[in-house]
Amino acid sequence: MSQHIINLIYLLAATLFMIGIKYLSSPDTAKKGNFLSMIGMGAAIGATLAAPEINGFTLIIGGIIIGTVIGAYIAIKVKMTAMPQMVGLLNGCGGAASALVGLAEFQSNSTGFTPFTLITLLLSLIIGGLTFTGSLMAYAKLQGLIPSRPVTYRGQQAINGIIVLATAALSWLVFRDSTNILAISGVLVFSLGLGVLAVIPIGGADMPVIICLLNAYSGLAVSMTGFALSNNALIITGSLVGASGIFLTKIMCDAMNRSLANVLFSAFGKVDESAAASGEPPTGTMKGVEIEDVATILANAGTLIIVPGYGMAAAQAQHATRELADYLGEQGVEVRYAIHPVAGRMPGHMNVLLAEADVSYDQLFAMEDINDDFAATDVVLVIGANDVVNPAAKTNPGSPIYGMPVLDVEKARTVIVLKRSLNVGFAGIENELFYMDNTRMLFGDARASLQKLLAALKK
Ligand code: NDP
Repeated sequence: MSQHIINLIYLLAATLFMIGIKYLSSPDTAKKGNFLSMIGMGAAIGATLAAPEINGFTLIIGGIIIGTVIGAYIAIKVKMTAMPQMVGLLNGCGGAASALVGLAEFQSNSTGFTPFTLITLLLSLIIGGLTFTGSLMAYAKLQGLIPSRPVTYRGQQAINGIIVLATAALSWLVFRDSTNILAISGVLVFSLGLGVLAVIPIGGADMPVIICLLNAYSGLAVSMTGFALSNNALIITGSLVGASGIFLTKIMCDAMNRSLANVLFSAFGKVDESAAASGEPPTGTMKGVEIEDVATILANAGTLIIVPGYGMAAAQAQHATRELADYLGEQGVEVRYAIHPVAGRMPGHMNVLLAEADVSYDQLFAMEDINDDFAATDVVLVIGANDVVNPAAKTNPGSPIYGMPVLDVEKARTVIVLKRSLNVGFAGIENELFYMDNTRMLFGDARASLQKLLAALKK
């Protein structure tokens, strides 16, 4: 196939990616967006395989078969609650692929590079390498394989600084002599190390930002590889992923009320021992409540705000939530949902789940649009949310999440919290909401509790 036709197909693929991303911005059109992007990806792969420089298919077909089987198996098996980990792993695969292509290029054409190609190859090696290990660390934190709290030690930033300088020095050596295998290996090893060391000090509450940032990095690495290989599809796709990842990172930083530099360098989520902030249970008396009592409270409410969190996803309670809300709505209760931007384990997690359960989009309110209304609300039903409703973010300067905007649920007349125990949330900190005078704790799996509640209401 001629290069002109290949470029034309790449352009078509890029257009489909852009329309796909546009459609992904609403749950109504998200499936169509995914489908269009899949067609674009298929077309780009097909055009690449038809390029004249491809002179053997055995290895490629073998790779495609192995990759497809593994990818399909993981995608079919993955639970909705484990999607963030999977996204983390896929970001890592993008980074690893870019680093491997970079290495292969160095090996196959080690003397004939222009300075521009050399720079882009080095960048795909560095960004790809650190994205790979950084994503593996994010995966391990989200999967609970390593603690989600920040891992810090004396001289951490100085050590990271030295590694950055060493990587830059080795890159300069490669730039001077692209056959210097030792320096190339050094660049790769330091980049891999940097990925690990940059992510371990990031605390649980900051993971949304770091996942978006790694997503952006994987896109940047791919576009650098595209420049090195003069492949337009990679340049465009990588730039799209990089740019949208950076926008998402900014949105997440705003949601946490923090700058990116602060997230990366301050070990947010680190427990301030001196402030005795988060290790001790808050004062006050925790008050449990029974299903029948909650049913009575709800039956007498005029206004209700539902606050979903990660526990709703874990319990797969979105359908039971909608059924309860619909029933109460039919009884004349005004029901709305308050969505915190980092509730759950991935951006938009709650919106996706509630859309899947056919909750009307008009009932969903972003934090900034509903926070002022809690004070005039009869009942708040907190379904498996914890960190995003923790008042310590506003009241306790010693708390690891101090400064993060949270939902002002405690201002409502009555707050009912559905969770299984007094366990902490992802940020690993106690929640004084559970001990407040107007809070009642309904212990149990969220889905089971909601089903029992609906049955009690219907009685
Ligand atoms: P949290 O992780 O703070 O709390 C979830 C709560 O759900 C837990 O305390 C748990 O308590 C409860 N729970 C778990 N399973 C069930 C169940 N089956 N039934 C009922 N309750 C259950 O969730 P939030 O949504 O409030 O906060 C999200 C956190 O995740 C934030 O710290 C955020 O920064 C972080 N994060 C967010 C990402 C994003 O992009 N949205 C990405 C990565 C991290 P118990 O065990 O007692 O039931």
